[in-house]
Amino acid sequence: MPAFLPETASPTGLNLEDTATAFAYKTTTDLQRGRLLFRSIGVPFLARLGPRMVNTAVRWGLPVRGMVRRYFFDQFCGGYTLEEALATATKLHGFGVQSTLDYAVEAQKNREGYDRCKQEVLQAIEVAQARPEVAFVAIKLTGLGNIHALTAAQRGELTTMDQAEFDAMAMRLDEICHYAATRRQPVLIDAEESWIQGMIDKLAEDMMLAYNETSPIVYTTLQMYRHDRLAYLHYLTEKFTRQNRLLGVKLVRGAYLEKENRRAQEKGYPTPMQPNKAATDAAFNAAAHHIVTHLDRIALCAGTHNEQSCLLIAGEMARMGMAPNHPHVTFSQLYGMSDHISFNLAARGYHVAKYLPYGPLEETMPYLFRRAEENTSIAGQSSRELRLIDQELKRRRKTRKP
Ligand SMILES: Cc1cc2nc3c(=O)[nH]c(=O)nc-3n(C[C@H](O)[C@H](O)[C@H](O)COP(=O)(O)OP(=O)(O)OC[C@H]3O[C@@H](n4cnc5c(N)ncnc54)[C@H](O)[C@@H]3O)c2cc1C
Repeated sequence: MPAFLPETASPTGLNLEDTATAFAYKTTTDLQRGRLLFRSIGVPFLARLGPRMVNTAVRWGLPVRGMVRRYFFDQFCGGYTLEEALATATKLHGFGVQSTLDYAVEAQKNREGYDRCKQEVLQAIEVAQARPEVAFVAIKLTGLGNIHALTAAQRGELTTMDQAEFDAMAMRLDEICHYAATRRQPVLIDAEESWIQGMIDKLAEDMMLAYNETSPIVYTTLQMYRHDRLAYLHYLTEKFTRQNRLLGVKLVRGAYLEKENRRAQEKGYPTPMQPNKAATDAAFNAAAHHIVTHLDRIALCAGTHNEQSCLLIAGEMARMGMAPNHPHVTFSQLYGMSDHISFNLAARGYHVAKYLPYGPLEETMPYLFRRAEENTSIAGQSSRELRLIDQELKRRRKTRKP
C-alpha cells in the first residue's frame, strides 16, 4: 500500500493553529470557562474525584445543576433536549460547521428505555433531514437493545429469550435505518466493545446493503486500534463492490483500549488491540488512504482529533485533485474538543460535523465523565486545548480596542 506523503508536502495550505477562526463562535466568557474546565481535568486528582462529586451532588438534588451546566455540560453537550441541540447546531453552522445529533443516553436496561431511545433517534432524523446544519444522526446499538443478547449472539449462545431480544433490537435498528433512507438522512452506527462488535458489524452490514443503493445512508464504524480492522475494511470494500452498494465508514481509533486489554488479560485471550499507539496511527492512516482512493465506492467520516491524520487526508484529497467539499468526505470531532481542527477545516471548505451529544443532565453524566477521563489520559489532549484557548485569549486581549 502506498504511504501518504509527509505533511510538509501537503498542498492544502491548512493552518490548524489559527485560533481566531477556531474560536470565533465562542465568547471570551465561554473561553474562560473552557480554560477553567481543562485546567481542572488536567489535574489527575481533580479529574478522578471531580466527576464523582458532581454526580453525587446532582443525584442528591443539591443546588449545583446551574453551575454544572455552565462549567461542564455546556462545554461538551449541545443541550438537554433536541430543540436545544438544534439551537447549538444552528450556531455552529453559522461558522460553516455541521453537526451529528447524538442522543447521548447510555446503555438502556429495558424495553421501555430501548423504545424511548428509538423514538428519540427517529425524531432527530425527522428534524435533521430538513436542516442543512445537521450532517448525521448517531445510533448506539446498546441504546436500542439488550447488551446481553448481543454478547450471547456473538458467542453463538442465544437462548430463546435472548433471540427474541436480539430480534427486537435488529427490528428497532431496521426501523431507524429505513426511516433514514426514506428521508435521505445519513446515520452513523457507533462502534462499541469487541465482545459485542461482531454482531454490531453484522447488523451494520445488513443495513448498508439494504439502504446504501444510491447514496451512503448508513455508515458503520471501524476502530483502528484493533489489529484486524484493516483486513476487515478490505473485505468490506470487496463485498460491497461485488454487491454494487456504497460503503459508509466512520473511521476512528477506538475508545475502549484499557477496558479491552484488561478483559483480554483477565479472561486469558490474546488482546484484539494493536501493540502500540504507532501501530494504531499507521492503521488509521492506511485505512484513510484506502478510502480516499476509493471514494467512488466508499464514503468517509473521519472521527478524529489527530491533527496529523486530518492533514494527511486533506493532503491526499488535494493530491488526487479532489475538491475539499467532496460529498464523500466529512471530518468529525466531538463538540467541545479540537475546535482548531474543525473550524479551520471548515473555513477551507471541507465538510466538518461536530458530534453533538444531548440529553438530560443525569443521563449524559457517563458521557461527560468519559470526556473528562479522556482529556486526562490521552497524552497532551487537555494541555493542547489549554494552550490554544490561552493563545486565543491573549490574541483577543491584544486586539481589543482601548
Ligand atoms: C466524531 C467521533 C466519533 C467517535 N465515535 C466512536 C465510536 O463510535 N466508537 C469508539 O470506540 N470511539 C469513537 N470515538 C473515539 C475515538 O475512537 C478515539 O478514542 C478518540 O477520538 C481519540 O483518538 P484520536 O484519533 O482522536 O486521537 P489520538 O489522540 O491520536 O489517539 C488516541 C487513541 O489512540 C489509540 N491508542 C492510544 N494508545 C494506544 C496504545 N498504547 N496502543 C494502541 N492504541 C493506542 C486509542 O484508540 C486512543 O483513543 C469517536 C471520536 C470522534 C471524534
